[in-house]
Amino acid sequence: MEFTEQHRQIMILGGGPAGFTAALYTARADLKPLLVTGMTLYGQASQTHCIENYPGFPEGVGGNDFGQRLDEQAKRFGAEIVYDTVRCVDLQQRPFKVCLSSSNFTADSLIISMGADARKLGVPGEREFTGRGVSFCATCDGAFYKDKDIHMVGGGDSALEEALFLTRFARSVTIIHRRDQLRAGAILENRARINPKIHFIWDTVVKEIGGKDTVSQLIIENLKTGHQETIPTDGVFISIGHTPNTGILEGQLKLTGFGTIEIDDHMETSVDGVFAAGEIADPYFRQVVTSAGMGAAAAISATKYLSTF
Ligand code: NAP
Repeated sequence: MEFTEQHRQIMILGGGPAGFTAALYTARADLKPLLVTGMTLYGQASQTHCIENYPGFPEGVGGNDFGQRLDEQAKRFGAEIVYDTVRCVDLQQRPFKVCLSSSNFTADSLIISMGADARKLGVPGEREFTGRGVSFCATCDGAFYKDKDIHMVGGGDSALEEALFLTRFARSVTIIHRRDQLRAGAILENRARINPKIHFIWDTVVKEIGGKDTVSQLIIENLKTGHQETIPTDGVFISIGHTPNTGILEGQLKLTGFGTIEIDDHMETSVDGVFAAGEIADPYFRQVVTSAGMGAAAAISATKYLSTF
């Protein structure tokens, strides 16, 4: 494969709401940004069936539809979008070096917005049965579970939102949560509690996922009594939060105790000229609207930084 190397004033690594908003703002500042989308086009938000809490969309908006709108808007002002994955970043040299699968770039400034990946349970059977009864994305896989009895692990907003979505297809969705109180907000909790297809198993964790060709059973343990039992299932969805995608940056900039990139209130990281936005730098809010806001702020800061070049 032939590699080329090109220089940019600014590159944006990651194409979720933070990255595309940063691309929009830096394009409008005439910086001709290059955005590398990464593997999950339009980020985690793209996998949400309906985003109901983004201001300006009173009826809600489909996650993928929303992503396409961001893409279109950024391109309209001259942002260049590369549908590729960032393989390595070198922040020790100036200009910074970024390598993708098919090309290498250098850049004077970077905005890192590579988001976070679904957290895993780490139990036997999880990896083996992924795609064969274990799923991390209800929007992607829900339709395969028509009239099935399935389980959802997690007690946050995502788990409940996905469980509610899955009731469109499944006969029943049983939420397994490790405590007896949900982390999810009241609106989703109320919707889930009144949905006749949704059931709860409290104070319980999954110890093992089993089956033959596809998942057929879970071994669960009640954390209060220590009692273990095997229950039948047609599939299990896991929605227990996310881990920031900082792997390729290891040792190159400061991280927080949450594993997110440490930033100041101008979105600056510990490396001069490198900014971060969205879930890779946000352990607290993790909303589409806050990620977009961080992307705008990072772009404004990067624009100021580049004006001193
Ligand atoms: P989250 O809020 O971190 O919730 C993760 C859930 O998984 C928690 O209930 C947690 O239990 C459980 N969990 C974590 N590790 C586990 C393990 N190893 N085994 C079993 N259970 C485990 O993550 P999220 O639901 O993905 O939400 C992320 C952010 O996005 C939140 O800020 C949320 O408000 C936001 N969000 C908002 C909406 C909305 O407003 N419509 C929709 C989706 C997401 P504990 O509760 O015991 O910690």
